[in-house]
Amino acid sequence: MANCRGSGSTNGSGSHAAETPSAWFGRMIENCYRYAVQAKSAGRPIVGILCEYTPRELILAAGGVPVCLCGGSAKTIPAAEQHLPANLCALIKSTYGYHVEKSNPFLEMADLLVAETTCDGKKKMYELMAQSRPMYILELPQKSDDADALEHWFGELSKFRRFLEARWNVSITNSNLRQTIATMNRERALRRELAAFMRSDCPPLTGRQLLDFRSSISGIPADFQQYERAIELLRAETPDPAAASRVRVLMTGVPMVHGAERVLEIVEQSGGLVVCLENCGGLKPILEDVDASTTDPLRALAEKYYHLPCSVMTLNDRRLDLLRRLSAEYRPECVIDLVWQACLTYDVESQRVKTMVERELGLPYLRIETDYSPSDSARIAVRVEALYETVRAGRPAGASAR
Ligand code: SF4
Ligand code: SF4
Repeated sequence: MANCRGSGSTNGSGSHAAETPSAWFGRMIENCYRYAVQAKSAGRPIVGILCEYTPRELILAAGGVPVCLCGGSAKTIPAAEQHLPANLCALIKSTYGYHVEKSNPFLEMADLLVAETTCDGKKKMYELMAQSRPMYILELPQKSDDADALEHWFGELSKFRRFLEARWNVSITNSNLRQTIATMNRERALRRELAAFMRSDCPPLTGRQLLDFRSSISGIPADFQQYERAIELLRAETPDPAAASRVRVLMTGVPMVHGAERVLEIVEQSGGLVVCLENCGGLKPILEDVDASTTDPLRALAEKYYHLPCSVMTLNDRRLDLLRRLSAEYRPECVIDLVWQACLTYDVESQRVKTMVERELGLPYLRIETDYSPSDSARIAVRVEALYETVRAGRPAGASAR
């Protein structure tokens, strides 16, 4: 394997500083909590968001703190099932379970929730949450290439801007928006730069370690410093040659939110290396920036967010285009498509993904349908190992990875 230079630490942190980026992001929830408490006591509203279609830039421009509330814990699901059907996606149930138990401190301190019309399960769950919590719903049209639909989305963001201005008696000027767009562009660029290390033949970190470099709250200056530091340390890291013998995996499908990383861990513990995570916890929401120099920054925001290739869109050809592009950049040897049970949109769309991956990219494909319970972990590991056998059997003689 070219470009592999002896062994080294793969934790991306080095050993020459007390507060490493890995240690910092290992305490991500505590860091976010401290930041939110300080911001709230300084008078900033806390705004809970539940989807990557929600433009954090608008919330930041209104002085708010956008915090992701998506649930990744199996523990809150029984409480959710008191009100919700058991046959519903684990992400929805976990998020709602925190609401019932009042056990998510960010949700409890939120001054407003911003929800969106994406999948039916979320949309109806929001109605129940809204009975006791202040909520604003963004209506997301779902025809991805329709000019009228984009215009409608722009209208929704214009209404949301006016709503935020009236609610907190602030003015969201184009100049404010340009500043928060620049902040979010910077955050996206830093996270993209970290992800780009996985393009190497011998990446200096694992997919699981990369996944930890993210934050539930966007725009925290200390996070930016740690992203920069992580990039610096990873550049200096000696790649681990063992990485070259692992099977390079591209993971796509449903979001893998904080606490719901089990399948990715199985994929890597079974001998794989997730070189690319396409989903909403990975690259999908951070690949496109917003043009901060435009005369109409709100329109630029509407366009960026409307391009997000989520399975709720029809047609969602942009997801297939994205997979083609990421496959060329990250050179996976196989694709694993994760579907949370009862997520109809990702489940049905997996058929198109499978066909494209196998016929066009010529890669082995595996669809894993599961939930947050660890009961099927052994079965998943067996299926993943069988996939890797197929990959290894297809490698040229003597090659470790492509
Ligand atoms: S997968 Fe779709 S619905 Fe879920 S967070 Fe991403 S954009 Fe939103
Ligand atoms: S994973 Fe699927 S069902 Fe669950 S919230 Fe996202 S789009 Fe909805």
